[in-house]
Parts: sequence; C-alpha cells; structure tokens
Amino acid sequence: MTGVIALFDLKASHARVAADVRRRIDAVFQHGRFILGPEVEELEERLAARAGVRHAVTVSSGTDALVASLMALDIGPGDIVFVPSFTFAATAEAVVLAGARPRFVDVDQDDWTIDPLRLEQAIAETAREADGRPRAIIPVDLFGLPANYDAINAIAKEQGLAVIADAAQSFGGAWASLPVGSLATATATSFYPTKPLGCYGDGGAILTNDDDLSKKLRSVRVHGSGAGQYDNVRIGLNARFDTVQAAILLARLEIFDDELRRRATIAARYDNLLPAGMSRQRQTADRRSARALYTVRVTSRDKVRHRLQEAGIETGVYYPRPLPEQPAYRAYAGGESDFPVSAALAQEVLSLPAHAYLSDAAVEIVCRCLAEASGKGARAV
Ligand SMILES: *Cc1c(COP(=O)(O)O)cnc(C)c1O
Repeated sequence: MTGVIALFDLKASHARVAADVRRRIDAVFQHGRFILGPEVEELEERLAARAGVRHAVTVSSGTDALVASLMALDIGPGDIVFVPSFTFAATAEAVVLAGARPRFVDVDQDDWTIDPLRLEQAIAETAREADGRPRAIIPVDLFGLPANYDAINAIAKEQGLAVIADAAQSFGGAWASLPVGSLATATATSFYPTKPLGCYGDGGAILTNDDDLSKKLRSVRVHGSGAGQYDNVRIGLNARFDTVQAAILLARLEIFDDELRRRATIAARYDNLLPAGMSRQRQTADRRSARALYTVRVTSRDKVRHRLQEAGIETGVYYPRPLPEQPAYRAYAGGESDFPVSAALAQEVLSLPAHAYLSDAAVEIVCRCLAEASGKGARAV
C-alpha cells in the first residue's frame, strides 16, 4: 500500500478552481497573446500588492528568478555570494550560472535557515582571503519559514551586501507585519506546482521595491532588451512567463489564503500530536511560515520512513545531502567538517503530509504511526 496519505494533493486543490481555470485559459486561447500577455500584467499587479512592494516581475522559473536577480544586480565573475549549505541546488546553481562563486554557510540548528553568526564569520574570512568581492547573501526561507532577516539585513547593511531572498517555498509567509517579498533587496519565488502558490508548469517571480532594479529585471528576462525588442543593452535570458500559467495563478490566488490557513491549522495539529520528544523546525512568534513542508527530525530516519510507507503514508526527504557534499558543488565546499548542522539534518529530516486537503484524522494516523515507528511515546489524543 503506498500513497494513501499523500505528501501533496494537487488534484484536490485543482478541483476547487477547475471551472475558473478553464474560463481564464479559454480567454487566453481567444486573445492569443501567449507570452507576457494581459493576464501576466494583472498577475504582477496582484503579486506586488500582496507582497507589499512596488514591483513583481514574473519569469519562467524560481531558478531564473534567482539568476535574473543576480544578473540585474551586476553580480558575476570575481564576486562571492553567501548561501546556506542546507538547501535545494538552485540556490547555489544560480550563483554559478551568473558567473559568481557561492560560499556556503551552515544553518541554525533550531530554525534550519542560514546562521547569522556563521555568516558574519564567513564574511570576515572572505575579506582576509581577498580573492573575490563579497556582493550578496541569498537566505533561503526553508520549508516556508522566513530566514532571520532582522539579523541578515543588519549584517548586509554593515557590509554593503545585497540580500536576495530565496523565497521559492515561502510566498504567503511574513515577518511580523511584513509579507515575504518585502524583506530583502530582491525576493525570488517559484510557482513550481508543489510550492505554496503553484501553477501548472514552471514559473517564478521577483519582488522588489527598487524601481531601477525592476527595469533591469524586465530587460534581463527578454534577452537584455532596451527601449525596443531588438535593442540589446545587456546580456540577458529567455525567462519570460507564459500567459496561460498567469491565468491559472489568477484563479489559484482566489483560494490561496484559504489554503494557507488550512496548512497552518494542520501544522498546529501536528505540533500538538507529534510523539513526545520529537523535534521539528522551530517557529517563532514574529515569523509566519507559508508551511510549504512540515518537517521533523528523526534518528533512523530511513527506517521510520520505510515503516510509514508500508502504512500508506508518503513522506519526503528535503534534502538527503548538504549541498557542498554534492559532486557539482564540492569545488566550492571549503573544509569537510564545516557544515555540521546541515550534515546532521541531512541524516534526520523527514517531511510529513501537511497539505491543505489533509483530514484531521490523517494527522492523527501519521502521528500514531510515527510514534510506533520511532519508538517514541504517542501523545494522548
Ligand atoms: C523550488 C526551489 C527553487 C527553484 O525553483 P524552480 O521554480 O523549481 O526553478 C529554488 N530554491 C529553493 C529553495 C526551492 O525550493
């Protein structure tokens, strides 16, 4: 038996908006402006308003949102960009694609996002080595939880660095009253289907308050265009967004707040029902996670995961290796033992089903099975 309690449920989510999606994409088929059409413009206005910023620039993926941000900030060869060692490959990949060098920094052992103390140390070490210019920090809002922007923005300001938020998993989250999108120089998000706000293919966006940067981003996404389409003023990308996907997102935005609320409720339920002593990503009162993934730490993770799978419960492992240990990134890794928190997390993290269409009963089943499989006591329900 597999997949009875699924990690994601895109079908249930689609069923709620199916008629609206159909109507909106039919309208696109009618007008025929398939790339950067009117729905893209409407979506960008909605996204910017939601994030409390002046500009949203949609692009073809979350990865391109990161690459375009680096390019628009003129970050490239000779430049160093600080990234966490516990993240999806795209965070560091974007830096290399832009021609710059990623410098990995371990994450905080409680909230699992880039550790501000280690970040300061890494910046200081880089200054001593003097073989590259530190230019930017890319904090990652892991599993939907905004990174420690208070500390990171203070460090960035002092050091004259840009902050590019990797908010691929956190659109819809917030820090106090500030929505994700307004916490950094530029915020890159993803509309990959399983992200909190997902479309039906690839997509992404950059959110910013910087007028000049938004103009450059619009140029970068269309081959570095200038005043006219065949006026090329910089090296850019083909990173345009499809109108059909924008139409789908306009429909999906109608249920987005409702889905966020339900995911928060599910997460709170897990908080109460997890086996005693099982640790999870720490949340704080001032940060609101978009709850992309509900993730716990378990020893003998693979054994526990297998037991859950046998019980029909799907889980995920994000991520099985710290990024600096991946073959493609070893050249940027520095010392072997520089990322102890990431190394431990890679052995122990387990993401549980926590989507908006999960039943209350399913959370209980998962927690009971987790208690049994991990040998920890179940809480009284
Ligand atoms: C998904 C993801 C990305 C990349 O987004 P795509 O839309 O898949 O290109 C980047 N960073 C993180 C942390 C992600 O989870």
